[in-house]
Amino acid sequence: MKKSTAKKSNIDDIIKKTNSFLCIDCGECTGSCPVSRVNIKYSPRLIVEKVLLGYFDEIKKDEDLWSCLVCGLCSNRCPSDVKYDDFIRMTRKEIRKHKEQLNYTHNRIIQKSMEIMALGHPLNRLDWITKDLKVASKGKYLYFTGCLPYFDVIFEHLNIKPTDSAKNAIKIMNKLGIKPVVSNKEVCCGRDLLYNGDEENFLKLAKINKQMIKDSGTEKIVCTCPECLECLKEIYTDYVGKLNVEFIHITQLMNEGLKKGKLKLNPLDIKKVTFQDPCILGRGFGIYDEPRNVIKSIPEIELLAMEREKDDSICCGPSAWVNCTNYTKRIQHVRLEQAEKTGAQFLITACPKCMIHFSCALNADDSQKCIKLKDISTLISESMKGKNGKRK
Ligand code: SF4
Ligand code: SF4
Ligand code: SF4
Repeated sequence: MKKSTAKKSNIDDIIKKTNSFLCIDCGECTGSCPVSRVNIKYSPRLIVEKVLLGYFDEIKKDEDLWSCLVCGLCSNRCPSDVKYDDFIRMTRKEIRKHKEQLNYTHNRIIQKSMEIMALGHPLNRLDWITKDLKVASKGKYLYFTGCLPYFDVIFEHLNIKPTDSAKNAIKIMNKLGIKPVVSNKEVCCGRDLLYNGDEENFLKLAKINKQMIKDSGTEKIVCTCPECLECLKEIYTDYVGKLNVEFIHITQLMNEGLKKGKLKLNPLDIKKVTFQDPCILGRGFGIYDEPRNVIKSIPEIELLAMEREKDDSICCGPSAWVNCTNYTKRIQHVRLEQAEKTGAQFLITACPKCMIHFSCALNADDSQKCIKLKDISTLISESMKGKNGKRK
C-alpha cells in the first residue's frame, strides 16, 4: 500500500474533528454495521485505520465508502466516541476532489434537481397545495417541505405521492390552529449533496434557505423529514451560522397537540401496526416516544414492537442517493421481514425517505411481502376523519 497523496492538513483535520485518533481498533463499529453484515468487504474500522495510517489513496478507490448508510449505529456504540457519520461526510468531500463519477441512483436526477435549486432561480414548487389547506406567506410557524414536490415526480412509478404526507401534516397543523408558512423560495436543505461531498452546492442551498427563513419572519420550523431537521438545526450551524428559530418534528407537534386535547382521534380499519425508527429521528435526536405515543392514541390500534427498534433500529436503505446495491436490497429485505413478523398490517414511517426506499423494496418483482406502508402524518390525519370520513 502506498501512502497518501491527499493534502495532509485536510486529513489531519478529519482525524481531529471526528475523534478518529481515539480509535482503539476494537471493531465494535464493524460488528454493529448493517452493511458489514451483508458485505464482508465493508469495514468502518478498517476505513478509519487506513486514514489514521495515511493510506488515504486506498480509500479513494474504495467504492464501499459510498455504501455507508450514515445510520449512526456505529457512532452510537463506539467506546471512543469516534464520530463516523462526520468522518464519512468529511472524507467524501476530500475524495470527491479526485473522483470523476459516483455511483448515483436514478441517473443522478435527484442531484441534478438539487443543483438546479442551488442556482437560486424562481421555481414553482407549490402546485401540490390544494384549496383546503390553510397556509401563509409570513407567520410564526414555517413548514419545511424539503424535496417532497420533486420526489412526487421522480418516484411516481412506485405509486406513492410524498406530498400527500405534507398535505396531511398541514391538515394536522391547521387543526392545531397553525397556519404555516410554506414558501416558494424554499430549496432542498442540501444534506444529501453534502454527503455526496458536494460542499459547494450545499452551501448555496443553505444560504438561500437561511435568507428565506429570515424573510418569512418565522419563529418555529416544523419538519416532516428528520434529515431536513438535522440539516437545518445542526449542520447549517457549522456552515452558515445558527438559525435563530426553534425546530420541531411533526411527531413532537402531534404529541403536544394530543396531550393538550387539541387532536381528537377515531378508530380506523387498521388495527395492528409497527413503527420504523428513522435513523436521524431516533439515534440522531432521541425522538422515540413521541411517534409511539401518537400512534397509540388512535383508539383500538395495537402498536407491535419490531425485533430491533429504537437505538438498535436498522436503516431503510441507501444514503444520499448513491450506491444502491444488492447489499442495500438485502438490508431492506431483512428489515421488512422483521416488520412482517410482528403480524402488523402496516409499517408506519416518520421519514419520507423510509417511505420511498421501503416502497421501492416492496415494489420489487420478487417481493412477496404483504405488509403495507403508511406515513405517520397520513395515519393521524385519517384517524382525525375516522372511518366515515368526518373530521372531529
Ligand atoms: S468502534 Fe470506534 S474505537 Fe472501535 S474500531 Fe470502530 S471507530 Fe475504532
Ligand atoms: S453509519 Fe451505519 S452503515 Fe455507516 S458504517 Fe456506521 S453502522 Fe455502518
Ligand atoms: S432503494 Fe431507494 S435509492 Fe435504491 S433504487 Fe429504490 S428508491 Fe432508489
